[in-house]
Amino acid sequence: MSGPAAAREQPAFVLGLMARAEAFATSLDRLLEGRDNPLGIVIDDTIDCVHAVIKGRNTLMFGTNSYLGLNFHPDCVRAASEAVQRFGTGSTASRVAAGNHRLHVELEAEIAAFHGRDNATIFSTGFMANLGIITALARKGDAIFLDAHCHASIFDACRLSGAQIVTFRHNDASDLQRLFTESTVAGPQTLVIAEGLYSVHGDIGDLANLAAVVKQHGAVFVVDEAHGLGIYGQHGRGVAEHLGVEDAVDVIVGTFSKSVGVIGGYAVGNSAALRALRFMARPYLYTASLPLPIVAAAREALRLIATGTELRERLWRNARMLHQGLTALGWDIYAPAGPVGSIGLPGVSKGRQIWQDLLARGVYVNLLVPPGTPNGEVMLRFSVSAAHRPEHIETAIAAFERASRDR
Ligand code: PMP
Repeated sequence: MSGPAAAREQPAFVLGLMARAEAFATSLDRLLEGRDNPLGIVIDDTIDCVHAVIKGRNTLMFGTNSYLGLNFHPDCVRAASEAVQRFGTGSTASRVAAGNHRLHVELEAEIAAFHGRDNATIFSTGFMANLGIITALARKGDAIFLDAHCHASIFDACRLSGAQIVTFRHNDASDLQRLFTESTVAGPQTLVIAEGLYSVHGDIGDLANLAAVVKQHGAVFVVDEAHGLGIYGQHGRGVAEHLGVEDAVDVIVGTFSKSVGVIGGYAVGNSAALRALRFMARPYLYTASLPLPIVAAAREALRLIATGTELRERLWRNARMLHQGLTALGWDIYAPAGPVGSIGLPGVSKGRQIWQDLLARGVYVNLLVPPGTPNGEVMLRFSVSAAHRPEHIETAIAAFERASRDR
């Protein structure tokens, strides 16, 4: 049968859209019965940057992205409080309508200057920065080669662009070279995307070798420094600075939701194209601009990151202390010491048992499970903050020591 009748024909049993989601909810309920849901932990109260009340218990947090503790820094809190009094809670309009405030423009100038670039565009989240920049740059007929471990926002952006998308093996410049060799799309019409610090495994991008391949083919290189900002490089500009390859990166994408301690995303670059890209980026055009208390706190945080190294140094001291302590207990941490550490576990049920054991001992870490992880891995992920004190790290190591006995 063909024509409209065929299009209307349906299989004998169709699960409606709502019923399908309801069935998933029911199986989730059964799976989680009597247990804590690692994806739905409720923070009942916040005590400070690294302490929260979870299930009535004062819990040490080793699973946020507040690498520098700036969400609680007095200067940032003061800037946000003053801005909320002065400017209200939200902008209620897009940047291209009535939502373009002097503070947005100043933050853009400051983030561009921080990275030593000519142009910057800020977005309402880091997710939207990737969506906006990648869909504005690439379209049908172009190619995008991205590292297989890239963040979901990058994958979604690539799909939305309409370009042909192919992943290369994680951090494998020779696999990237192979993609160029096999590609029918010209180098200059190809976008290559990688990250500075990969936040699931905690390893850094092999940006120097990738950049060499990108340049050889005249392609465009975008690097997402969401987790590297404020942490890597002499000036805290990220992993590209740390590896000395900033000049080889055409566009750096970043977020204010991690070390900066608020929310928002940005893209910086030298090309004049970046001035046009904001008007080609639907996540820039069709959403409300960042609330000004957020912008004010972000500016203060950037100032702190740009002018001092103390927080960065404290973060690194803490990261090394935790890494050494856990390694001495026999835990196999995926990458060298850094703001994020990851431990592979043999399956969801073991993972949940150890995660729950740590929580019961007052230490919160992240449990990462498929499909949110590459290669179906189950992982405990912990993150470190400059706001942790040495005794907090000792408490975490002691909790892992007890959990080790259970392995
Ligand atoms: N890029 C990367 C690499 C990320 O890890 C994240 C958040 N986990 C984002 C972008 C999105 O950032 P945001 O939370 O600001 O939307």
